[in-house]
Amino acid sequence: MPIGYCPEVCQTPDLLTLYYSVFRSLTFEYSKHLPAIHFQADTIDKHTIYKHAFYSHAFYCHALYSHKRSRINRVSSMSKSISHLPLLSPSLGTERSLKVIRWEGTNSVTRTDSAADADKSPVVYLQAGLHADEWSGIHCLHYLEKLLDEALERGELTGTVIMVPVANPIGLGQHINGYTVGRFDFDYTGNFNRNFPRLAPLAIPRLQETLGQDAQRNTKLIRNTLIECLNDLTPRLEADFLKQRLLELSLEANIVLDLHCDSEATLHIYANQHHQVKAADLAADLDCPVLLLEESTEGAPFDDANAAPWWQLQEQFHKNHPFNLDCFACTIELRGRTDVDSVLAQRDADGIYQFLQRQQVIPGTPKQSDRLTEGTPLDGMDAVKAPIAGLIEYCKSVGDVIKAGECVAWVVDPYADSHDSQRVPVYSTTDGILFARRRDKMTRPGHTIAKIAGAETLAFRKEGKLLEY
Ligand SMILES: [Zn+2]
Repeated sequence: MPIGYCPEVCQTPDLLTLYYSVFRSLTFEYSKHLPAIHFQADTIDKHTIYKHAFYSHAFYCHALYSHKRSRINRVSSMSKSISHLPLLSPSLGTERSLKVIRWEGTNSVTRTDSAADADKSPVVYLQAGLHADEWSGIHCLHYLEKLLDEALERGELTGTVIMVPVANPIGLGQHINGYTVGRFDFDYTGNFNRNFPRLAPLAIPRLQETLGQDAQRNTKLIRNTLIECLNDLTPRLEADFLKQRLLELSLEANIVLDLHCDSEATLHIYANQHHQVKAADLAADLDCPVLLLEESTEGAPFDDANAAPWWQLQEQFHKNHPFNLDCFACTIELRGRTDVDSVLAQRDADGIYQFLQRQQVIPGTPKQSDRLTEGTPLDGMDAVKAPIAGLIEYCKSVGDVIKAGECVAWVVDPYADSHDSQRVPVYSTTDGILFARRRDKMTRPGHTIAKIAGAETLAFRKEGKLLEY
């Protein structure tokens, strides 16, 4: 590989070693006027650093000249920066990256400062499209980016906002016969939103000797320890590497919003019972009719990977070491897959913006919402199953209020002998709101064809299994 050479700056024959050592210790971010380069170098192998060092040579030299102005995890003023994190190359000659947008307001904190400082504004992390074929969140963030830019221009932004507008470039590349196939990784790691690293068990031994009596210090220590534990992992597959990068970005945040959508659906939110109050505020700001609250989960989805370590560590240490539950994380389902619409995207962006005002990331008085949703237990959600294979003929729409025992749909099996026997009714087992159903109307037996949010826990639902049962 030919090496670019800058005689004014890089007067060393061992240029690559110089690049590597510098990138290991520094995080360079350039102003929005320059193409941005952002390396979390501790987690990128040397070979990757070399490749990027070569292509980034001009900016690297610029950075040395501008050393006093460059930042090492330090915030000096309101700013917006854009960076691109390279992912692990999955095959020869290919490489993907994550685009990361970061706004820093007047009262921002950084990881090495203290995200737990009481007088600082929150750090917010937003991402969309983790399941790759769910695009309404990507559309919403397109509009929210503009709102945040305008807030920055007006000098109104106080907190830090980190945005990954396209969280899964791997899944977006899974295009086959004219369709994008998201949700599950072709490279056998499974559901893109499951099995994020479980950090609490890794952090407990490290924290046992270091936690003290100061709640604010403990909170900061826990956040930094979780990040250290994550970065000590060595993912071998591209999807696992992606999960590590996303989690590394979001662990810095006090508020984590993961934007998804269902097949055909109303707006709905999944959050943990610990966060009922804040999740209800978010639902109100989004005018969201359905809030599903889970007790605990086994699947390690992204929101849980961010929030659960805090209460898991609290269970371990609460008797002797106080600290705050310092991360609210939830999953927002922005309706169905075909709901990519400018009016809806703007409305959802306005709702999130209002929630950020409520959380004092942006000044302003949030409007009082007419919609107040306390939430219903996730174990009260009836996942209505198809009894046989066939064509789904719904008799209820998304948003309908259903009674237990009401017919939700017919499954039509043309192989049966008579017209009547070809029609098999499917009933709800709970009172509640039908909030999601299938866009694809041909089903197999045992597949979920409708989701109904009920207030009462259902005996056949298994705690912690999310949507699987
Ligand atoms: Zn999803």
